[in-house]
Amino acid sequence: MSGRPHEASARACANIALAKYWGKSDVKRNLPAVPSISMTLDQLVTETRVRFDPSLDADNVRLDGRRASTEEAARVVAMLDRVRRQARLQTRARVSSHNHFPTAAGLASSASGFAALAAAASAAAGLRQSARRLSALARASSASAARSIFGGFVELPAGKRGDADLAARQLAPPGHWNLRLIVAQTATGPKKVGSTEGMERSRKTSPYYTTWIGQAPKWARTIKRAIKDRDLDALGLAMEQSTLAFHCCAITSTPSIVYWAPQTLTALDTVRGLRERGVSAWATMDAGPHVKTLCDASDAARVRQALDRTAGVTRTWVTKPGPGVEVHS
Ligand code: ADP
Repeated sequence: MSGRPHEASARACANIALAKYWGKSDVKRNLPAVPSISMTLDQLVTETRVRFDPSLDADNVRLDGRRASTEEAARVVAMLDRVRRQARLQTRARVSSHNHFPTAAGLASSASGFAALAAAASAAAGLRQSARRLSALARASSASAARSIFGGFVELPAGKRGDADLAARQLAPPGHWNLRLIVAQTATGPKKVGSTEGMERSRKTSPYYTTWIGQAPKWARTIKRAIKDRDLDALGLAMEQSTLAFHCCAITSTPSIVYWAPQTLTALDTVRGLRERGVSAWATMDAGPHVKTLCDASDAARVRQALDRTAGVTRTWVTKPGPGVEVHS
């Protein structure tokens, strides 16, 4: 790299796990213990700019217009170090990232955040990475970020111990299926237990963890087939089972991790009520209290209205299958 700064920007969307990811087979390499399947979400966007600048003595990280905390900066610097190693580069970087939705609140900011960072840092360092390589790079920071490199419907296989190159792959492009995901925000502020810590606690203490690891691939297979066949009822049923099984692991950990709030159950009840009235609407929750409801585009207005009227729902977003990561130099 010459003496002048090199910079690039990237834009990535968060994703919703339809087949849930919970548990690592290798914590050091950040490998998931179960296969997961997701839909990339067009409305939940992160934009990140990286500038390698020879005049800097240390990396400088800003997140949502403020200086990143020590912990946040450390995760970003770890990714920059991986990129620097690949590019044989010493130069420090200035990173500025904006999540256009709440950070660390169970809406997968880490997925879009590390996908955008992997792409922007690689481009700024002059690395020409395939989508697969970018996905493996993003996965080292956050397994769900590996999926956000791709648009549409995406699979991340389970990783075997020591597998350095595990990456996600696209199952179908965004136009494959005109689904909507209605995100109902039921609380504000960061989640109580971060996902990495929660997964490790489940692995070490939940009596249901082994059952979860044994059952999760079956739901992933059903969901993969349902995506191929565009079968929303089959997808929704397996997604709800996968969701409840992973929350079962979290709830039965010691100390217990309950990501739900009372209003989470109220919103779940709304979704069940819609189904009783013939709407194919299916709910999922990640490591947070928000309820995300999958339905056909033709039902989205009705589902949103029902959730907007639900006590404790503070905001809704309607999102559809979105694009993979985009880089602008
Ligand atoms: P979430 O549900 O939002 O993914 P997590 O606790 O799993 O919550 O991850 C949030 C963490 O991811 C943040 O505390 C921060 O360390 C990191 N993060 C979020 N957004 C970004 C971003 N745009 N750039 C870099 N790191 C980010």
